Amino acid sequence: MKTKYETILVMGKSGAGKQPRINVLVEEFGLKQLSTGDIFRTYLRCFNALDYTDDLKPFYNESDGRFLEESEIKERLGISNENNADDMVLGLKAKYFIDQGKFVPDSLTNSLFESAFLDMDYGPAVLDGYPRTIEQTSFLWELAKRRDIPLDAILLVDNDDELIKARCVGRRICPNCGEVYHLEHKPPRNNRYCTVESCSGETIQRSDDTLEKIQSRLQEFHTKVRPAMEFLKARGIPIYTVSGNLPEFTPETVKASVFKSMHLS
Ligand SMILES: [Zn+2]
Repeated sequence: MKTKYETILVMGKSGAGKQPRINVLVEEFGLKQLSTGDIFRTYLRCFNALDYTDDLKPFYNESDGRFLEESEIKERLGISNENNADDMVLGLKAKYFIDQGKFVPDSLTNSLFESAFLDMDYGPAVLDGYPRTIEQTSFLWELAKRRDIPLDAILLVDNDDELIKARCVGRRICPNCGEVYHLEHKPPRNNRYCTVESCSGETIQRSDDTLEKIQSRLQEFHTKVRPAMEFLKARGIPIYTVSGNLPEFTPETVKASVFKSMHLS
């Protein structure tokens, strides 16, 4: 029975319930969570610290889909001698796409991931939100081969599309205190106001929780993430499936379900 893990990939639909399972892997195996969301925020923060407010368009050539040379970017930003100049350049590139609401290209997501993964000496890690396309997956596969990084397993948090939709569409959040509600299972007062003592903020629906956005994220899972998983499965990475739903949801039952799926109990 394997009890030591270097790298586990947690995959699943957005809203499937990945975080509680990730917490188990972090606590039980001493892995560090590496999330794409955090990676993007880290590099954006790094660039934003520069307080550069000019237009970023001159850094990118739309017609050939290329940024200026790195040395040129550093010179224009006046950061050639900064220690974290490489990180700032990555941050600028990410910001270029994000600010325009554009899809971040796989090649850039790969560079950001590699840089963040290198910062933690390639593990031990739980990868969360990466890889999510075939291009990202084959990049990770080659990186793992090159750097001798063991990709131990995929933990697939499985959940039904309809359940995810129902859960997300009914979700309400208090912008004041962060309390999370659900119109059916845990309604705010009058379906509207936060019930936390001394808060009573007016709850809102996150802009990500509309049916249209949920459906497009589910679609992305089926068309992109699933093939990515198949790619790794075909190369011998075991997939352990754990249900995103539990009859009773406690830290103990979550842990038990993760262990059972990984044949650890
Ligand atoms: Zn509140």
